[in-house]
Amino acid sequence: MSSDSAAVVFHHDKDVASRCRLCDTEGRLTFEHTPPRRCFNGHGVTLSSLESEVRGLRRGEQFQRGLGRLALCEKCNRKTAVWYGDAFASWTQQGFEVLSRAKGIWIESAAFLIKPSRVIKQASLLMIAQSHPQMHRNNWYRDLCTKLLSPTASGRPHDFRVLLYMLRSRARMSGMAGSISTRTGNSTVVYAEVALPPFGYCFMPDETATEALVTEFRMADITRFFDFGLDQASNEFLNFPILTPDGIAPLHYRDGTSQ
Ligand SMILES: [Zn+2]
Repeated sequence: MSSDSAAVVFHHDKDVASRCRLCDTEGRLTFEHTPPRRCFNGHGVTLSSLESEVRGLRRGEQFQRGLGRLALCEKCNRKTAVWYGDAFASWTQQGFEVLSRAKGIWIESAAFLIKPSRVIKQASLLMIAQSHPQMHRNNWYRDLCTKLLSPTASGRPHDFRVLLYMLRSRARMSGMAGSISTRTGNSTVVYAEVALPPFGYCFMPDETATEALVTEFRMADITRFFDFGLDQASNEFLNFPILTPDGIAPLHYRDGTSQ
């Protein structure tokens, strides 16, 4: 284990440290880059999270060689990287190109040629990799894991939606939280938010509050990516905002509308 990866092992509970977040089996977890190193995750990243806050790292936590966690067993790490890694790297690359051309804080009709099913499954793994093992108690979480462990399974996981935006600023990861918009008073549960340039993903329950959020932030709802077959490619034209995460709580942005 490298020295900077040792710094991210936050949970001291033995069970927490050794239970795979994806297949829920007990065993040795391996430190892997999440997302895979080839998805532009091989160099320095500054991350804001609850962990960085608890450890007094107000300016975020430094990862010298890319972001990663001890979260998945070796088997799950290896399998999912093979299934979803390349498609996600291509999506990320296209995202950086869109972002480099973007002016202002809104992106209209950005074109992506992608394999949507593989993209959304790897994106969902970003959330899985930083969640608590006890999340397996939740139906929606177990259903999601089943879909991620079966690459050819299409269809949306139960009670699960994924909203998308873009960001230029430093990374932020937020675990399960309740969030109230100070602007509209809408309250909602967020399963997790993973903001890792060029894309930010909000993982949400499938409920009315999520609908309100889509309207408020104008994020793109990409949940339908789950409907595609594993090797089905698609031209996707997406509209979404460029937001600047502010602090460690999900759904709070400097240039957005939650302030
Ligand atoms: Zn596993």
